[in-house]
Amino acid sequence: MNTAGLAEAAATASAWRKEGLRVGLVPTMGWLHQGHISLIRRARRENDRVIVSIFVNPIQFGPNEDLDRYPRDLERDAAFCREAGVDVIFHPTAKEMYPEGFQSSISVAALTQTLCGRSRPAHFTGVCTVVGKLFNLLRPERAYFGQKDAQQATVVRRMVADLNMGVEVVVCPTVREEDGLAVSSRNVHLDAAERRAALCLFKALSSAREQVAAGVRDAAVLLGGMRAIIASEPAAAADYVEIVDPDSLLPVGRIEKKVLAALAVFIGKTRLIDNILLEP
Ligand code: AMP
Repeated sequence: MNTAGLAEAAATASAWRKEGLRVGLVPTMGWLHQGHISLIRRARRENDRVIVSIFVNPIQFGPNEDLDRYPRDLERDAAFCREAGVDVIFHPTAKEMYPEGFQSSISVAALTQTLCGRSRPAHFTGVCTVVGKLFNLLRPERAYFGQKDAQQATVVRRMVADLNMGVEVVVCPTVREEDGLAVSSRNVHLDAAERRAALCLFKALSSAREQVAAGVRDAAVLLGGMRAIIASEPAAAADYVEIVDPDSLLPVGRIEKKVLAALAVFIGKTRLIDNILLEP
């Protein structure tokens, strides 16, 4: 396994393609954890070669967000990747990705105006632009994303279809800690009390699931219950709690088919997201 900058990674991927090898790409921002590893393992099973990109993409962070304190440790990540059978880590610099004069972007319209897009207005344009660049540079057969970032997966799928990118988007289930907290690089910021408080996200989602299983179909009732659970945790402040159609991401009033319950909650300074699919 080796770590490559932009030119080397593109040349390697191009050589593989010429040999007829199928390349799987796992885009990440590093500080790898079991969620990333599950994507890498799936990519390993389904492709001849696996590239993991590790790039803390500055253009997907807003001015007051956590770009500077985002955790980084390439050596630690490389050990994880070696263990999981990765062929190449693509680790470009920001200068390589966004050289002087860079001025293009990819934006997806309606899907990015709800949920996280409301409090992070430039976020998904940053995500789509970097993912589009990764696809153009490496031309993978498949790319792997986590259900934990459900809106991101939906937006990327839309972009790939709209722009005929010809990459198969594979979405993998959310990996959780034993108590249910979704694994996330940002969990490293939580102190012990915040770590306990952070469980309110999963508690809220689980209560919605239980209520649906018990026959509740009114989204307002479910939302009331979820918001009350978040509000009862003093260290938590909800950014949003919503129940939406998983494809359009528009709010639904009644649970008549599969819906997405999604939330973003500040635990202290750390903003965490999570979601769950609910089926009647
Ligand atoms: P990140 O490094 O946070 O940008 O995440 C890179 C990829 O890993 C994204 O597609 C995420 O959705 C996915 N991912 C992050 N956390 C998890 C998790 N707990 N379970 C499954 N996938 C995850």
